[in-house]
Amino acid sequence: MATFPVNRLFADHALLPTGWAQNVAIALDASGGIASIATDQPIADGDERVAGPLAPALANLHSHAFQRAMAGLAEVAGSGNDSFWTWREEMYRTVGLVNPDDVEAIAAKLYMEMLKGGFGHVAEFHYLHHTADGTPYSDPAEMSLRILNAAKTTGIGLTHLPVFYAHANFGGVAPNAGQRPFLHDPDRFLALLERLAPLCRDNGQTLGYAVHSLRAATPEEMRTILERAPVAGPIHIHVAEQTKEVEDSLAWSGRRPVQWLLDEMPVDERWCAIHATHLTDDERQRLARSGAVAGLCPATEANLGDGIFPAVDYMAEGGRLGIGTDSHVATSVAEELRLLEYGQRLRDRRRNRLAGPGASVGHTIFDAALKGGAQAVGQNTSGIAVGARADFVVLDGANPYIAAASGNQILDRWLFALGGETVRDVMVAGQWKIRNGRHHLEEDIDRAFARVLMKLK
Ligand SMILES: [Zn+2]
Repeated sequence: MATFPVNRLFADHALLPTGWAQNVAIALDASGGIASIATDQPIADGDERVAGPLAPALANLHSHAFQRAMAGLAEVAGSGNDSFWTWREEMYRTVGLVNPDDVEAIAAKLYMEMLKGGFGHVAEFHYLHHTADGTPYSDPAEMSLRILNAAKTTGIGLTHLPVFYAHANFGGVAPNAGQRPFLHDPDRFLALLERLAPLCRDNGQTLGYAVHSLRAATPEEMRTILERAPVAGPIHIHVAEQTKEVEDSLAWSGRRPVQWLLDEMPVDERWCAIHATHLTDDERQRLARSGAVAGLCPATEANLGDGIFPAVDYMAEGGRLGIGTDSHVATSVAEELRLLEYGQRLRDRRRNRLAGPGASVGHTIFDAALKGGAQAVGQNTSGIAVGARADFVVLDGANPYIAAASGNQILDRWLFALGGETVRDVMVAGQWKIRNGRHHLEEDIDRAFARVLMKLK
């Protein structure tokens, strides 16, 4: 699997935690980490000079890989009142048609696309565990193993988050037929985590877990899992994505979903609240203080008509956030960050919402998503810093917009005026995975994926 080994990189421009630096020499260690960084250096013999500005690759904190196969196929109008809930019926149809080979092929294609979009790592929120009628595979971890394989094949870093899912709504409502492939009781779920822990460790992948939502688990089930899970990694949960969820939560408990979560669960830096779209001022302030990451998926939230996260106030209060691609109607850093800012502008009818006076919006939101993404996937360090994993993006220095830009203009051009094609090369853990816009297994991955799409037609 080792491709293009490198020991020392030289970048004319590199985005360090302190900002853009020039003539930067970066030494890598044998495990794919950053051993040293020196600025204002002459290029030395044996250095590999990168072909454009060097930035950190971001972690994508939220993915349901199989949904990439249906992206773009839920855009036919129904009753005139289409919503997340009608989209979900289309998603359940896809679930009923895919087998483990298909899921691995879809995930490999998706992870390759994510690499090309500027992500070096993905947190896979994995709830498709069983066959269409709910029967477990002979190895109950089969679907998880396919995700681990797809990440290994493509070389993207993985935080695997098996998802606990048991109910259709608040208060332990019995699941419906479409949800059968997702279901566990706590004991079987804990056994899945036990089985996956050594495999992830051997692969250099991180294991956390998720509770699908407050709809899908009772408080007792959540507490059992929290107490007994043999996993120290991140904990993710979908919360307050839809106003209907807020109404159902109020009807069930008298409390809103984020309010309930913060009251009843030990939410801290280990947690990632996916979406958290619908917040009162008090919920927003409490979430910001908790140290948890808000996992925002702006393209999916726009596609599903979810709503707009209150990012201006939340960031001003020190809240942490990162970005995910969720249903994968978009797969790039640029598209998600651009939509994050644009949602705020459209709501407020003002420009440049997420940066302070004089600051670059591109740099501000890139830096926030870098730090929040790393935390949400369980990494202790982020960015181009000694001790961090060597996950880099090389922007195309031959692109005139990039060639003529300096400092944070590079990020603002990439994120607001260009797109995924700006990403030329991508390194993960010290190895090049994308070179000049291509993955070394591109043809094989595309062929397998095309077969799946033909089957789903
Ligand atoms: Zn999701």
